[in-house]
Amino acid sequence: MTDLPNTPRLTPTRYRELASHDREKFQRTLASHVVAHVGFVRDGEPMVLPTGYGFDDDYLYIHGSTGSAFYRDMGDGRPLCISITSLDGFVYARSTYDSAVQYRSIVIFGAAEKLEGDDKVRAFDIMAEHLMPGRVAEVRPSTPKELAATMALRVSLAEASLKILDGGVEETPDDGEDHSVWAGTLPLRLIAGNPDTALLTPPWTLLPDSVRLQQQRFSNR
Ligand SMILES: Cc1cc2nc3c(=O)[nH]c(=O)nc-3n(C[C@H](O)[C@H](O)[C@H](O)COP(=O)(O)OP(=O)(O)OC[C@H]3O[C@@H](n4cnc5c(N)ncnc54)[C@H](O)[C@@H]3O)c2cc1C
Repeated sequence: MTDLPNTPRLTPTRYRELASHDREKFQRTLASHVVAHVGFVRDGEPMVLPTGYGFDDDYLYIHGSTGSAFYRDMGDGRPLCISITSLDGFVYARSTYDSAVQYRSIVIFGAAEKLEGDDKVRAFDIMAEHLMPGRVAEVRPSTPKELAATMALRVSLAEASLKILDGGVEETPDDGEDHSVWAGTLPLRLIAGNPDTALLTPPWTLLPDSVRLQQQRFSNR
C-alpha cells in the first residue's frame, strides 16, 4: 500500500506531527465510520452536506436521489472537499487551554464522477456492505426503478490527508498546577443499542446475521 501523499495542500500548518501518511491507518479510519461531510460551492455559497459512504482502495463512494439538486451539483465534476471525523475521546488537562479532544480525521480533495451501469451497481454494493455489512444478501435486489432514482458518485482517494490526536494529558510534575484537580482522558465509543423490530415482522422472525454483525461492530469490546 502506498503512503498518503505529502503535498503542501495536505500538510497542516500547526501540529504537523499529528499528520499521518499511513495508508493502512487511513483505511482503518474509513472502515470505522460511516458518515462523511461533503463541502462544495453552490451558486457562490459554501455548502456542506453529511452523507453515508462506502470505499475501496482507490475511491470513496456516495449516493443520493437523482431528484436532489444538491447531489446533482455535487456530482457535476466541481471541486469537492470531504471530511470524515472520528471523535475518540476527551482529554481533561488541568486547564481548559491544555484540554483537547482525541480524534482521527480525514480530509479528501477531489471531484465526483457519476457512475453508470455495472460500476453503479458495484458502487451500491460497496456502500451497502460498508453501511450494513451482510444485508445485501438478506433482502431483495434493488429494482430498476430504484436504481434509476439513485445516483452513485465516486471520488478518488488520491489526494487525502489523515490527522490523529490520540495522546493523553501532557504535563510536567513541577509546572505549578494543582494536581489534586483530576486530569485524564475519557474515551468515547459509538455503541449500538437494542434492535427495535418493525411492526409487520412476524413474531417468530430471528434477528438476522447482518444486525448481529452490526452490533458487534458497534460494541464496547
Ligand atoms: C473533532 C475535532 C475537533 C477539533 N477541534 C479543534 C479546535 O477546537 N481548534 C483547532 O484549532 N483545531 C481543532 N481541530 C483540528 C482542526 O481540524 C485543524 O487540524 C487545525 O485547526 C489545524 O489546522 P491547520 O491550520 O494546521 O491546517 P491547515 O494548514 O489549514 O490545513 C492544511 C491541510 O492539512 C490537512 N489537515 C488539516 N487539519 C486536518 C484534520 N483535522 N484532518 C485531516 N487533515 C487535516 C488538510 O489536508 C488541509 O488542507 C479539531 C479536529 C477535530 C477532528
